[in-house]
Amino acid sequence: LTAASGGGIVAYADSSRAEEAPEPPPRKKKVVVLGTGWAGTSFLKNLDSSRYEVKVISPRNYFAFTPLLPSVTCGTVEARSVVEPIRRMFEKKGKDVAYYEAECLKIDPTKKAVHCRSAVGTNLDGNGDFMLDYDYLVVALGAAVNTFNTPGVMEHCHFLKEVEDAQKIRKSVIDCFERASIPNISEEEKRKILHFVIIGGGPTGVEFAAELHDFLVEDLVKLYPAIEQFVKITIIQSGEHILNTFDQRIAVFAESKFQRDGIELSTGFRVIKVSDDSITVKCKSSGVETLVPYGMAIWSAGIGTRPVITDFMNQGKRRALATNEWLRVPECDSVYAIGDCSSISQRKIMEDISTIFKVADKDNSGTLTLKEINDVLEDICIRYPQVELYMKSMHMVDIADLIKGGLGDSHKESMVVNIEEFKKALCHVDSQVKTVPATAQVAAQQGYYLADCFNKKDHCTEHPEGPLRLTGSGEGHHNFRPFRYKHLGQFAPLGGEQAAAELPGDWVSMGHSTQWLWYSVYASKQVSWRTRVLVVSDWTRRFIFGRDSSR
Ligand code: FAD
Ligand code: MG
Ligand code: MG
Ligand code: MG
Ligand code: MG
Repeated sequence: LTAASGGGIVAYADSSRAEEAPEPPPRKKKVVVLGTGWAGTSFLKNLDSSRYEVKVISPRNYFAFTPLLPSVTCGTVEARSVVEPIRRMFEKKGKDVAYYEAECLKIDPTKKAVHCRSAVGTNLDGNGDFMLDYDYLVVALGAAVNTFNTPGVMEHCHFLKEVEDAQKIRKSVIDCFERASIPNISEEEKRKILHFVIIGGGPTGVEFAAELHDFLVEDLVKLYPAIEQFVKITIIQSGEHILNTFDQRIAVFAESKFQRDGIELSTGFRVIKVSDDSITVKCKSSGVETLVPYGMAIWSAGIGTRPVITDFMNQGKRRALATNEWLRVPECDSVYAIGDCSSISQRKIMEDISTIFKVADKDNSGTLTLKEINDVLEDICIRYPQVELYMKSMHMVDIADLIKGGLGDSHKESMVVNIEEFKKALCHVDSQVKTVPATAQVAAQQGYYLADCFNKKDHCTEHPEGPLRLTGSGEGHHNFRPFRYKHLGQFAPLGGEQAAAELPGDWVSMGHSTQWLWYSVYASKQVSWRTRVLVVSDWTRRFIFGRDSSR
C-alpha cells in the first residue's frame, strides 16, 4: 500500500515538474561505423548526423581513392593526392561525428558493443583498448587479401590493397633496377632481377601491368639504357583470359595490346608456391610444373574475409558476411553490413510463391487472372529483381508470356492460372539471381542507400504500411525498397594512353579517346576539390616531366 501511494506521489510530483520544464528530447540513437573506405565514407557523407550520435572507427585516418592506387605504384600520381583526411571529410558535420583511430577487434552483437584497440599505440598504462556500445552498427570493413594458403605468398609477394602497398611497390621497382645495374652481375641474374611477375589477371593486375610497362618504356629505359634488354613483365592468370569480368571484346583488345607491348601472358597456369627467387607454376591442362625465376612479384589474385568478420560470422564457411536485400544482417539485431565485407543474399521467389499467390488472389477464387497478376507485378519486380532479368533473358515482353509460355495474344486477356501452373511458370526465374561485384561503385551505392534508410527511419516506423505488400519477411523499414545496384560501367586502363570501357547499354569503347574519358571520369569522381587539383596536376606534371624515379 505504502509503496503504491508513494509511487503515486512520485508520479504526481513528476507530472507537475513536467509542466514547468519542457520534456527533454529523446536520447539520440548511437550509430557506430566500422571502416572509412568507400562504403563507410559514402554512408557517413549522406547520413543526417543531427539525428544520430555517430562514432567512427578505422585504423587509418584517411579515405583512399583505390582506383588510382595502380598509378601510385609508378609515381604517375603521388600517394598524397589519392587520400583525403577523414576528419576533414566530417568537419562540416561538427561535433555530431566522432572519429577514433583504432582497429575493431571484436563485434559483440549480444551486448551490442564493439571492442577496439587504438592504432596509435597504447599509452603508458596500456589503456589503448576500449569498448563502444551501439544502437545501430554499420560494418564497412572491406576485404583482406586472399592467398588461398599458397605457400610463400605472404612472405615474398607484394600486394596492392593499401596506399602503403603502392608506395612499397614503387620503391621495390626502383630497387630492382638499381640492383641490376651493379657491376659484376651476370646476364642471367639481371634477367631474373628485372622479371616482374603479376599473379592474377583481374582489373587490378592488368592495370598495374600497364602502368609498369609505361613506366619502363617512357622513363626507366632512358635512365637505365644498359639493362633495358633484360626487362620482362609477365601476367600469370589461372583462367583462359585476362579481365574475365569484362566484356569479351575488351579482354581480346587488352590481350592483343599486351602482346604487342611484349607483356607475356601465361594463361591457364596456377601458382602453387613462391620462394625468395622463383615461382612454381602448374599448367592446368597438362599438370606440368615449372619454375619461374623472378625479381619482384605482385599478388592480386583474390580477396578474402578479415579475421574480425570471420569471427563474427562464427562459421568461416561463407566467403563473406551475408545480409538481406536491405543490407541488414539477419538473426542479428541492428547490425548492417556494406561494401566488400558483405554480400547480399537475394530472396528466392520460389520460397514465397504460395504467399504471393494468396496476396494476389484478392477474390479468393483459387486462381489468378491476368489483372490480378498485373496488380501485384510491380511489387513482385521490386522484391524479386530476378523476374525482370529472367524475362529479359528470354526476350519476353510482358508477364503473360512468362505465365503462359508465350501464348497468342487472343488468349492473354482471358487467361487464368492455378497455383500449380503459377509455380511451374516461375520455377526457373531464380536462376537469374545476380550477386553484386566487390567494387567501389557497389560499396558507394550501398553506403548511400543505407544512409537514406537511416535518415528516413523515424518516418518509416511511424508509417510502417508501405507500398510493398510483398515484403513479407519485413525488415524494419517495410516501405523501403530493397537495395538495387545500378551498374554505371567500368574502365580498364591499358597503358600507352589507351583504355577500354564498358558502358551501360552494352556499349564498349576502346583506345585513346577512352583514356581521355577515363581522365575526366576519375577527375570528377575525386572526393574533394583538393584531391582533384592534386591528381590533375600530377597527371600534368607527368606529361611534361615524366615520372619521378628516385626512391
Ligand atoms: P575498403 O574501401 O577497403 O574500406 C575498408 C575500411 O575498413 C578501411 O578504411 C580500413 O582501414 C578499415 N578497416 C580495416 N580493418 C579494420 C578494423 N579491424 N577495424 C576498423 N576498421 C578497419 N573498384 C571500382 O569500382 N573501380 C576501380 O577502378 C577499382 N580499382 C581498384 C584498385 C585497387 C588497387 C584496389 C585494391 C581496389 C579497387 N577497386 C575498384 C575495388 C574497391 O576499392 C573496393 O571494392 C572498395 O574499396 C570496397 O569498399 P569498402 O568500403 O567495402 O572497403
Ligand atoms: Mg568502408
Ligand atoms: Mg577505400
Ligand atoms: Mg559486397
Ligand atoms: Mg482470383
